[in-house]
Amino acid sequence: MPVPVVPYSEVDVLVIGAGPAGLMCANALANARVNVRVVDKRAVKVAAGQADGISPRTIESYGIAERLIRESVQVHQAAFYNPSSSGGIELTSRAPDVTAPSARYPFEVALHQGAIESIFLDSMTALGVEVERSTVPTSIEISKDENELMDSASHPVRVTLQRLDVPEGQPQEEIVHAKYVVGTDGAHSWVRKQFDIAMEGEQSEFIWGVLDMVPDTDFPDVRNKSLVHSNHGSVLLVPREQDRIRVYMQLEDKDIINPATGRVDKERMGPEEMLDVARRSLYPYKLIPTTGILWWTLYIIGQRVASRFSIKNRVFIAGDACHTHSPKAGQGMNASMNDAHNLAWKIALLVRGWAEPSLLSTYESERRKYALDLISFDKMFSTLFSGKPLTEENSHGVAPEHFMKTFQKFGGFTSGIGVHYNPSVAVSDRNQEVASGLVIGERFPPYKFIRAADAWPFEIQDLLPSDFRFKLLVFTGDFSDPLQQARVKSMVANIQKPESFLNRYATPGKNSGNPRFDIITISKGQKEGFDLLQFPTLLRSHWSKVFIDDTDFTSSFGGRGYLYYGVGPEGALVAVRPDGYIGAIAPLDHVEELDAYFASFMKISA
Ligand SMILES: Cc1cc2nc3c(=O)[nH]c(=O)nc-3n(C[C@H](O)[C@H](O)[C@H](O)COP(=O)(O)OP(=O)(O)OC[C@H]3O[C@@H](n4cnc5c(N)ncnc54)[C@H](O)[C@@H]3O)c2cc1C
Repeated sequence: MPVPVVPYSEVDVLVIGAGPAGLMCANALANARVNVRVVDKRAVKVAAGQADGISPRTIESYGIAERLIRESVQVHQAAFYNPSSSGGIELTSRAPDVTAPSARYPFEVALHQGAIESIFLDSMTALGVEVERSTVPTSIEISKDENELMDSASHPVRVTLQRLDVPEGQPQEEIVHAKYVVGTDGAHSWVRKQFDIAMEGEQSEFIWGVLDMVPDTDFPDVRNKSLVHSNHGSVLLVPREQDRIRVYMQLEDKDIINPATGRVDKERMGPEEMLDVARRSLYPYKLIPTTGILWWTLYIIGQRVASRFSIKNRVFIAGDACHTHSPKAGQGMNASMNDAHNLAWKIALLVRGWAEPSLLSTYESERRKYALDLISFDKMFSTLFSGKPLTEENSHGVAPEHFMKTFQKFGGFTSGIGVHYNPSVAVSDRNQEVASGLVIGERFPPYKFIRAADAWPFEIQDLLPSDFRFKLLVFTGDFSDPLQQARVKSMVANIQKPESFLNRYATPGKNSGNPRFDIITISKGQKEGFDLLQFPTLLRSHWSKVFIDDTDFTSSFGGRGYLYYGVGPEGALVAVRPDGYIGAIAPLDHVEELDAYFASFMKISA
């Protein structure tokens, strides 16, 4: 019989694993018109269960808010229950579920992972990218040739893929040569293991029981997130779409570990046993699944972070492949998607030949620090959540007030709004005082401005989509003031010099605007007398690019944006990265500060 020839192909980026991280990555790259393939060992996508919480920062980031909000439930309130004197539990307090005042969407949404994945899958289909299912990698090698590794046009990663579902006689294997490989293959990542990347942290595993159901219950807070501390254990309830709820409970080793083998024995704990555990904690309230248990799992997880997130800036791991933690903080899917986008825009710039490899190193420095912070938070919060409640018999237990205060104190972190990236080539920490309300290294906060051409109020975040372009926000101050007008015109003259970043990094042959930068002008002034044609053409490349810091016609919002962002009458230049984070700030008369920022990682087009 003839031996089938092993097909050979090249691709810019191969993504291994099509969970939330892999799909976010593949979709972002496809949107950036990068040649991307994504493979997954599963024959079909996740249909139910697994992660379900989306935090405020994720909602506001990726242009997915509208569909998310349509399909999910919003979680606005958290309720805290503790032991009562009569032997059951009682409500001790209620508080906002999210404590992050600058969040555009100050709530979480809950929706099953499969539905969230569908948002990305639909977007990818429209861009001609499909997940190649029933496909696993069997070998991966990176070239040892330093010249090849430094050449951004080379394909130095060789991966053998195996198809698990091809008819006999057809080639099962394919050799793929990729410029970059992203391992988003979950907590047991094959990619991570191939490069012997250690998972650092606690070696002990925690076992969570998880149930989805439509409940019949008299528990008053069933439509709030409820954090229940009882003398029989702790339970977390999360409201879900279609009248469902999610019930989480941390299980004790004695209930689930087989003493003979020392290993988890799933025979010892099924959904009925879990339901009993939840019911004991919720007593005196009843909990009856009306249409059976819709999904359940035993979710076994340690609190660990990978020692490295990248190998030679050519192979990367993201999502659960590089950090695992409990589901309590609701961060699994959020952290994974945010890792993936942080990496995707950087890879897209490299593939286009627009950036130096130093930019890629910031993926690990930014996201590993975040992952370490997440694990520290998870350890502290888990200990409080799983600890015995404070009672007369247990004076060392967790006080309800302390638990609720901790939940609120870390709202900035769990909401994703307070994520902060340290200085690097992608974050310049100079000139913070020029816009004191815009924290360098943090996401650009939402605010509404009035579009000069038609007085249409616009949310600024909608002008900063998560893509692969840098946005340059020009706060001109009051252009009707002759002194300020002169300052703005001088800035424009400087930015148009051949050696300024705008011209240095222009793409030859592209005459319709600059594909790397989008310039948005925000002026002081009143809509009634405003003349946008007075601005130099650089600041109004299109009529839709000029905004005024003024109120809307009902005077219900707007008009205080300069104040909120801490920008004075002399104006400011703000460079916002493709992921919506503030990369650099400069005074109008120091354009060279932005030249230096972009020169630290940007490349002149060949
Ligand atoms: C069974 C299970 C139950 C979970 N329950 C909860 C929960 O109740 N609450 C919660 O918050 N989080 C839960 N999680 C975690 C949550 O799903 C993740 O935090 C989140 O999905 C992270 O996304 P990810 O893309 O990094 O990883 P994953 O969602 O794990 O996606 C990894 C993908 O890679 C694929 N893959 C794995 N190995 C290979 C390979 N060798 N080749 C090709 N493809 C591969 C997998 O099929 C999968 O599609 C659960 C995870 C699992 C696996």
